[in-house]
Amino acid sequence: MNMITNHLPTEELQALDAAHHMHPFTEGEGLAEKGARVITRANGVWITDSDGQEILDGMAGLWCVAIGYGRDELAEVAARQMRELPFYNTFFQTTHVPAIALAKKLAELAPDDLNHVFFAGSGSEANDTNIRMVRHYWAMKGQPERNIILSRKNAYHGSSMGSGSLGGMAGMHAQGGLPIPDIHHINQPNWWAEGGDSDPADFGLARARELETAIKEHGPERVAAFIGEPVQGAGGVIVPPETYWPEIQRICDHYGILLIADEVICGFGRTGNWFGSQTMGIRPHIMTVAKGLSSGYAPIGASIVCDEVAQTIAKDEFNHGYTYSGHPVAAAVALENLRILEEEKVVEHVRDVAGPYLKEKWQALEDHPLVGEARIVGLMGSIALTPDKASRAGFAGEAGTVGYICRERCFANNLVMRHVGDRMIIAPPLVITRDEIDILIDRARKSLDETYEKIRKDGLW
Ligand code: PMP
Repeated sequence: MNMITNHLPTEELQALDAAHHMHPFTEGEGLAEKGARVITRANGVWITDSDGQEILDGMAGLWCVAIGYGRDELAEVAARQMRELPFYNTFFQTTHVPAIALAKKLAELAPDDLNHVFFAGSGSEANDTNIRMVRHYWAMKGQPERNIILSRKNAYHGSSMGSGSLGGMAGMHAQGGLPIPDIHHINQPNWWAEGGDSDPADFGLARARELETAIKEHGPERVAAFIGEPVQGAGGVIVPPETYWPEIQRICDHYGILLIADEVICGFGRTGNWFGSQTMGIRPHIMTVAKGLSSGYAPIGASIVCDEVAQTIAKDEFNHGYTYSGHPVAAAVALENLRILEEEKVVEHVRDVAGPYLKEKWQALEDHPLVGEARIVGLMGSIALTPDKASRAGFAGEAGTVGYICRERCFANNLVMRHVGDRMIIAPPLVITRDEIDILIDRARKSLDETYEKIRKDGLW
């Protein structure tokens, strides 16, 4: 067999990729034509491609590489764990040290009485667990009809049948028969796009109160849970108005509905606290975690569950689990990652150093003619591109065209910044330094300038 290595020419790797590799969330034919950028190695906040270009990773992979690339400690822990115990399950009256230690650590880090951990292989799997767990919880409480889960349009909770149904992505629901029954979506607290003439505070309250309306519509005795990302990530880093979450909490408390905080992006320091729920002042019954849990070095996710739900579930067999629930290598890697986050005070770095510095520079982008608003919490930020700042109008033509051009310009300028429609988003590794933030901002501004120039030339302005 011919060896496929980093040493093959880029075009050859691209051709092989196009022939055999189906990419997630990608139009295959378009990609085959353009060729995928082949990433070969990475260190700190930098990724390197097969042509030797050094690219600043403004997205921390997929929002996950919190401690940055190239940390040998994690590689060593993984190798040690693979030698000692590469796999064992936790199904049939067995357990192992990495799962025990990680569950205990998560119980310590998580707020309040979130003391119990159900492991999964990813955020999607953990949210699938949540669907089954909250429905089973209510069945155990003698209320099996209480199985409706309320979520939000433009939420992202994963890509499996269950988690994709929890999510509110119209494009995903259009394919493959989603959503599954008894999951309903209220409107999102996206003031920029949907707030019209209203004041952000009033809009936040109105959008939160849609939860109450939905509960009344379905009947409170039918509603099991509400799920939300503290700050919507894949939907475009939508920072809700300050009035939003307190009202959601009030409504959940009032109707006795379980609150699930999807912390897959916000968890482990992204917002300047260990969890986005702390930043937003929410008290969830269940938190979904993944991504930053292992900084992406190993696939692992989890549901962190409060005493009441866990203890109720424990009275019966919960017919649910994954081969890789609590995988020992992934759990050992996650533990080492948490050790680094803690000992190197990475969350404090986000809160006190990198977060405030990036905020100042990011918000200064609002002086650019293309930028309507620049929002940021901790190290997750977004800018809305608009032809008219005052009316917050979208561009003529298909939504996302200008965002896509901007993303292409960023990529050409060796900066990974993603676009969601015509919103540009960033979520760099949490260890990013001030100097690296300066480079990120310089490249972002250059890319915005080039986008502005191009759309004026192409008549899109
Ligand atoms: N929840 C949220 C908030 C996410 O952002 C994601 C992934 N982007 C998921 C769940 C799904 O996680 P995974 O891709 O690991 O299944």
